[in-house]
Amino acid sequence: MLEELRRELAVATRMLVDASILNYSGHLSTRVPGVSDELLVQPVDEPRAGLRPETVLRVRFDGTVIEGEGRPPSELAIHTGVYLARPDVAAVAHFHHDPTTVFSMVEGAAIVPVKNHASRWAAGVPVHPDPSHISTYEQGAELAVTLGSAHAALLRSHGEVVVAEDVPALFTDVVHFVENADTLARAMTLGTVVPLRRYECERFLATFDRRRHARKVWRYATSVAVATGSVSTAWLEAPRPAAATATAAGGVGAVGSPGADGNNGSRA
Ligand SMILES: [Zn+2]
Repeated sequence: MLEELRRELAVATRMLVDASILNYSGHLSTRVPGVSDELLVQPVDEPRAGLRPETVLRVRFDGTVIEGEGRPPSELAIHTGVYLARPDVAAVAHFHHDPTTVFSMVEGAAIVPVKNHASRWAAGVPVHPDPSHISTYEQGAELAVTLGSAHAALLRSHGEVVVAEDVPALFTDVVHFVENADTLARAMTLGTVVPLRRYECERFLATFDRRRHARKVWRYATSVAVATGSVSTAWLEAPRPAAATATAAGGVGAVGSPGADGNNGSRA
């Protein structure tokens, strides 16, 4: 199970690099199943485009590295703060996507749903007022308060935090979150935006199979990533047991990294 989670984390990370959502910074994490205070996360200095399953760290919430070499990201507290406050969350993404972050910089320019899949954030996307790096556990706890029960938050003039039930679902959410922000920004240049109403979002979600959609997006994105050489097919084998496969995920392109043997991490 842990190896499968490591593979998912590496694959999702590479695909988000290919989608220009992660770059030289930003990171994903997932809880270690059955343990209340451990997570998997990449080393701080590992290039996102070359992340490999075997280099993913197993880290205690206090920052102690249990397995792997290197240090966790300096903003580990983003992840631990959310996990401590939200038992329903099993995967967290933090990234710095400027076209999305600008919504935290303009008064009155809230992120509202304009695309169906953004219905997940119909209840709102809170903006955390602290623009500095979330580098202490106190800051992580403060961020969790801002996040509340929401599924995403903006860090003012800094970046984004998106949370989900597993890595493939997280990948899908991150892709849709950015898609919605991009589309909203374009719509705002044309005139008065008419966002999806709350009841419209609820109607969409009432018939939306989140797990099935995430699986579809994950399959699409991984197939592109394999075709472009960014992800090895070896990392996509050994499907998770059905009960644990809250699959989901979003897709977007991929561009190459590892060789077909999956042993290399650098992008083409
Ligand atoms: Zn950051």
